[in-house]
Order: sequence, then C-alpha cells, then structure tokens
Amino acid sequence: MMTQSPNVLADADARAPLPSIRLYVAGPLGERGMVVTSGGQAHYLAHVMRRGIGDRLLVFNGADGEFLATIADLRRDHAVLTVGAPTRAQTAEPDLWLGFAPLKRAPTELMVQKATELGVAALFPVFTTRTNADRTKPERLAAIAVEAAEQCGRMTVPVVHTPRALNTLLAEWPPTRPLVACLERGSDIQPPRGMTAPRGLLVGPEGGFTDMELDAIRSHPFVLPVTLGPRLLRAETAAIVGLALLQAE
Ligand code: SAH
Repeated sequence: MMTQSPNVLADADARAPLPSIRLYVAGPLGERGMVVTSGGQAHYLAHVMRRGIGDRLLVFNGADGEFLATIADLRRDHAVLTVGAPTRAQTAEPDLWLGFAPLKRAPTELMVQKATELGVAALFPVFTTRTNADRTKPERLAAIAVEAAEQCGRMTVPVVHTPRALNTLLAEWPPTRPLVACLERGSDIQPPRGMTAPRGLLVGPEGGFTDMELDAIRSHPFVLPVTLGPRLLRAETAAIVGLALLQAE
C-alpha cells in the first residue's frame, strides 16, 4: 500500500516561487517567531500591494538572515507576520563607505538609492563650503536606504550617519581605511578597481570642492585622489561610477 507523506502540503509550499514582497523589519527573526510591522509597512501591504491575511512575503532584519513570513493580521497601524522557513542565511556586505555632499532632494535620494544597490555599508552626508545643505533629513535618507535594500535583495541596510562638516569627517576618518576622493577631471590619477579592503569614496557638492577643501583633503595620508575621466560628472553620477569601479572585480 502506498503511504502518503503527511508533509505533502508543506513540501509543495516550500517549492512555491518566493514571494516578491520583501520587508526589512526591526527586532530578532527566527522560524516560528512573530513580527509586528510599522504602520507604513501595513499601509504598503494592504493598500499599495493589495495583500491580505494569509499572503506571503519575505522578511530580513540585517542580522538573522531572510525568512518566509505570512500575514496573520493586517490593521491600519501595524501588521502581524508569522515567520516561516529561512530562505537565505545572513551575509556580510562589502565594507564600503560613501561620503557625499547633499545635493538637491531628487539627486540626493537617487544617490542614496543607488549607493544602497551598490552595496555601501555606511553613508556620511558631508557639509562643504558649497553644499546647499538645506533640508537634508537623515531619517528620510534612511527610509530610502531601507526601501532600496528591500528591493535589491541585500541582507543589510546601510547606516545613514548624521550630517557632519567635511573637516570633521576627515579628522575622524579611520587612518587605515583608504578614502578614494573624486577630485574632478583633468588629473592623470586613475581610478582604482576592485579594491576589497575596508574603504571609502568621497564625492563633492554640485559646485565642487573649494581650493582650501582640496588642499585639506589631499593633506591626509589615507586619501587617494582619483579622476573619473575627462568629463565633468554630476555628483550623483560620480558617486555611482566611483562605487561601481571600487566594486568591479
Ligand atoms: N566643480 C565643478 C562641479 C563639481 S561636480 C564645477 O562646477 O565646475 C561634483 C562632484 O563630482 C565633484 O566634486 C567630484 O567629487 C565629482 N566629479 C565630477 N566629475 C568628476 C570627474 N571627472 N572625476 C572625478 N570626480 C568627479
């Protein structure tokens, strides 16, 4: 007589395609655990993605890996998720930091989103003489980083540091961490490729660094000045290109 595994349903479930929704949640994650989401995430699930009780998604918290989860309750100000099987183990992100002068809102947000997709571990908004430092809200940038991390499948969310002056960034920079400084066109210094050690990239404001700032940047032994080619790039382009070069194998 044929015996039927009591686990057929569970097995079929495990072979189903992975859900497309992926949420970053705070707090510990483990199989058979429970997660309470933020109000924003509940709104996203219910009204943006039109999901309901019983629907599945992926969750990660930057520490315990990624898990399947099922919506157990969906309210206006939170959702309750029950955590199922693990889907991916936690992995480390490259140890890459980005220092950037905040730009206007849209290009700043683009830069934070792309930097997150390119694996940056920490973001440092930096005030320079020519930074139009108007309304840079670190919380807003952090929310963009979370969304980009959810979307691109990375296992951590970059840290968005509080904005600081360029001189403070340079003074506090760990001397053993190379800082690749994008110092505009016209020099013959080539961009490094595939640097793997802890490292950082620095990109200036729309108006460029002042001569005094360029001298200050160059005076630090951990700084590696680079050019990204003969054309004048917008700062957000320079950040994307610089990060891609540092990540290229
Ligand atoms: N000073 C320029 C504008 C700066 S571009 C002017 O107004 O003439 C903004 C930032 O992008 C610069 O500070 C630099 O960090 C980076 N950048 C732009 N083009 C670059 C290039 N070809 N090589 C290296 N960095 C560049």
